[in-house]
Amino acid sequence: MDPKPSLRQLPQVERILARLEAEGYLLRYPRALVVACVREVVERKRRSLLRGEDPSTVDVSLEALLTEARELVARKSLPSLRRVINATGIILHTNLGRAPLSEAARRAVAEVAGYSTLELDVEKRGRGSRHVHVESLLAQVTGAESGFAVNNNAAAVLLVLTALAQGKEVIVSRGELVEIGGSFRMPDVMAASGARLVEVGTTNKTYLWDYEQAVTPQTALLLKVHRSNFTLRGFVHETSLPELVQLGRRVGIPVMYDLGSGAIIDLHRLGLPREPTVGEAVETGVDVVTFSGDKLLGGPQAGLIVGREEVLRRIRSHPLARALRIDKLDLAALAATLRHYLDPERAWQEVPVLRMLSAPLEELERRARRLSARLQEILGGVAHVGVVETVGEVGGGSLPETHLPSFGVTIRPLSDPVERWDQFLRSLPLPVIGVIREDALLLDVRTLLPGEEEEVVGGLQTLLAELSMASEGSGT
Ligand SMILES: *Cc1c(COP(=O)(O)O)cnc(C)c1O
Repeated sequence: MDPKPSLRQLPQVERILARLEAEGYLLRYPRALVVACVREVVERKRRSLLRGEDPSTVDVSLEALLTEARELVARKSLPSLRRVINATGIILHTNLGRAPLSEAARRAVAEVAGYSTLELDVEKRGRGSRHVHVESLLAQVTGAESGFAVNNNAAAVLLVLTALAQGKEVIVSRGELVEIGGSFRMPDVMAASGARLVEVGTTNKTYLWDYEQAVTPQTALLLKVHRSNFTLRGFVHETSLPELVQLGRRVGIPVMYDLGSGAIIDLHRLGLPREPTVGEAVETGVDVVTFSGDKLLGGPQAGLIVGREEVLRRIRSHPLARALRIDKLDLAALAATLRHYLDPERAWQEVPVLRMLSAPLEELERRARRLSARLQEILGGVAHVGVVETVGEVGGGSLPETHLPSFGVTIRPLSDPVERWDQFLRSLPLPVIGVIREDALLLDVRTLLPGEEEEVVGGLQTLLAELSMASEGSGT
């Protein structure tokens, strides 16, 4: 069959563009984007025909090209960084931005997005410091003399090492030379800071006397690193923080603890493994503690440095502090998050990470059943929908061996590969991210934020509409 007649029927770019312009597309989207999308849609059709596809199956009507062009414009103008629904059951999902912010933290971000009192001392009408906004809050919630925030915990560690130990020696146990998330390796950060790493002990055992024997006039810091993302069991010995603090006092060398995960309140009462809280670390008299803002604290990306004022003064005044400084949006979210902890009982409800961690199993089951019933209504006939017990994780390199029993909804398409549904839900303007488990899509309800159940239902409604369109298309 000669494809030429169909090729000649292809609507011209100008005609499609004129229609989109009449629909207001050139006011809503950049002209160049709309033109590029129209060209691409026309080109795709042209290539299908040239490839010898049966012209009766290639719809070259103006309406068909318009529909495709509208979709392409909508898809290409979506920001690549956008909101998603986390139905993975992993609370601090690194790929999904770790901790979701509390309502108050979100409002605080929006509030200071314009002009703010970032570095204005309102009363004295002069220049203020951005750091005052969290300094006393950090001290209050951790019990430390003072606190300071930088870009993230990797930056916090780099800054403390540089300010306290550049060109000098830092003693660390071989069992604590951790790698976090692939790009943070303690020996590399140490090298970047210009401090010399002195490894002591063995992988599984490090005693106090290992540290003691390594102290020289060149020693500037004793460093302890929390093994936040792995556990060491069996024939092991670890020197405790109080022991190390005592040694530091005795030899007149500051002690730093890189705590990483940074729980403010004790998670032990949830039946989770003992994770040292920041306050407990501070209580040992350690000079400086560093931890993340977006792990167990449940706030924005930030690196928190708390400890003795005298030591913090040296850290704050180092030139690197300026290069690693926290920005106003993070600072607003961080202050709002810390304020929740002034009333720890309310923090359990207001900080999403804590709320998710402490969600009772009965509540999760109830929520899963409700979501399942809603999905059953719309998917009956095209998929099996059920409720299953599942196991989530804390994630983000925190509490590595903790399993969080939970409930989820499974969706098993009757005539489609589950991968296709998963892919479709992931490519929505508001992507729904679940996990594929045994030919079914599993949505763990623990990590859904309030109101997101309805949005999951919306996502599946869109999928269903698309499927019925596709089957109508192939039927004609
Ligand atoms: C997570 C972690 C870091 C890195 O913190 P970021 O906030 O991700 O930069 C450093 N040290 C420890 C012990 C950690 O757990």
